[in-house]
Amino acid sequence: MLTLAVDQKIAQKIDRRPHALVVGSGFGGLAAAVRLGARGYRVTVLERLTQPGGRARVHRQDGFTFDAGPTIVTAPQLFEELWQLAGRRLSDDVMLVPMDPFYRIRFADGTSFAYSGDVDRMRAEVARFAPDDVAGYDRFMAHSRAVCRIGFEQLGHVPFGSVGSMLKIAPDLLRLSGHRSVHDVVARFIRDERLRTVFSFHPLLIGGNPFRASAIYCLIADLERRWGVHFAMGGTGQLVDGLVRLIRSQGGRLRLGVEVTRIRVEAGAATGVDLTSGETIAADLVVSNADSAVTHARLLPEAQRWSSGRFQRARSSMGLFVWYFGTSRRFPKVDHHTILLGPRYRDLLADIFDRKVLAEDASLYLHRPTATDPSLAPPGCDAFYVLAPVPNLAGGQDWHALAEPYRRRIAAMLEESVLPGLSEAIVTSKVTTPLDFQDDFLSYRGSGFGLEPVLTQSAWFRPHNRSSSIRNLYLVGAGTHPGAGLPGVLSSARILDSVVPDARVTA
Ligand SMILES: Cc1cc2nc3c(=O)[nH]c(=O)nc-3n(C[C@H](O)[C@H](O)[C@H](O)COP(=O)(O)OP(=O)(O)OC[C@H]3O[C@@H](n4cnc5c(N)ncnc54)[C@H](O)[C@@H]3O)c2cc1C
Repeated sequence: MLTLAVDQKIAQKIDRRPHALVVGSGFGGLAAAVRLGARGYRVTVLERLTQPGGRARVHRQDGFTFDAGPTIVTAPQLFEELWQLAGRRLSDDVMLVPMDPFYRIRFADGTSFAYSGDVDRMRAEVARFAPDDVAGYDRFMAHSRAVCRIGFEQLGHVPFGSVGSMLKIAPDLLRLSGHRSVHDVVARFIRDERLRTVFSFHPLLIGGNPFRASAIYCLIADLERRWGVHFAMGGTGQLVDGLVRLIRSQGGRLRLGVEVTRIRVEAGAATGVDLTSGETIAADLVVSNADSAVTHARLLPEAQRWSSGRFQRARSSMGLFVWYFGTSRRFPKVDHHTILLGPRYRDLLADIFDRKVLAEDASLYLHRPTATDPSLAPPGCDAFYVLAPVPNLAGGQDWHALAEPYRRRIAAMLEESVLPGLSEAIVTSKVTTPLDFQDDFLSYRGSGFGLEPVLTQSAWFRPHNRSSSIRNLYLVGAGTHPGAGLPGVLSSARILDSVVPDARVTA
């Protein structure tokens, strides 16, 4: 052991590669680390929590494994690319399995829609609800395709560092109705109210209100259909662990339990970071994967911080209430991904996003990973999480007092709908509220997904991936361009390849 430690010290001493520091080990930070490692940097990732992954951390409790956050893996090619950069294949480390259906969407009246990637089955599902909408569904998917080609394939990897780059895409944005909301555009193609919900709910997966998220997010329907919805066997945590192994294989380091208090800036350039412990670490460049608002509130020197007006104007995504629970028996009729819609749609979203009140009703996402991978629970048991979008902390809810009554309310909704007999079957339970998002991930207003994805906070209007005021400072993650969700944060790291100098040339 002693020899190993000494060897590591010597190895670090003679490692003359330029040093890159990554603040935060969310998927954006881990992906940035792999990319920088592949481009010749000696990378150190600094994470304040005691495990990597950020929102994708894992809760292990009483023999159950709960992925804390992302469960729906889309655009797997973005992961594959990271593995290739490190000279491996994704399948060497992680087994992704396609989901079919992607989700079951259950309406308040008990009817449900099986949402899949199979066009014929989707047409049949649409016809079951409203035969007249089948042609509209086809046209919507063609529209989604066009938006995906531009919004994801072309623009998702553009840095948007200048206003000129934004002006260049303005005609495309207008043509694709980017100035309108997702729901507006869906409603242009589809008439049935329930189907409008089915095809417009996607922005909620990345922190947006479908009634005001830019219609650019109509691209998600095509993105899912083309590249599928997948689950990582063993849980999303396997992707996190795999990325950490890639970073180590490149000679990079991950330090857990260390919090950055300040990004050091000298003569207009980032030169390192200070930690709460008093340690200072020097670097040739710094990448912040911390919440973009918090980076601009606390980590940067005063002169470079956002003004109070900018903070007030910033729209944060909604908060999330997540209840992880294990049951002593299995519920085989429940799919892997179920969306349980409450009686209200637009009005519930207005409660959450605008009025910021905790409503009596709720729409829920229920995750049952043991439908695909029973190893995530003890034999004969099921692991679940249920997620309810709720107001972020700007709503002023006292979550210390509300958490347990709200959990009980949600348990009752599940018991009455898809999990009869739930209360007698619960054997383990854990709740997280927007307060935990604030305290654990240092998330501004405890939001679930960083800045809300509205047009005025997208592309050039979103915090840039290369700081415009500080040299050698870069930002990745949900609160930066292009935005939240695994494809978004992996793309934010991908953009670094076009704005960070290649150390293999400059070293
Ligand atoms: C419950 C939930 C479910 C979701 N489901 C899906 C899904 O199914 N599919 C999907 O694609 N997306 C999903 N998302 C969204 C997706 O998980 C996130 O957008 C993405 O994981 C965020 O990654 P990030 O790079 O922004 O980093 P984060 O996950 O936000 O991690 C940032 C890290 O930085 C650390 N940090 C912050 N400040 C400091 C500091 N000063 N010093 C050191 N470390 C610091 C934090 O501790 C944290 O670990 C979900 C999100 C949640 C919350």
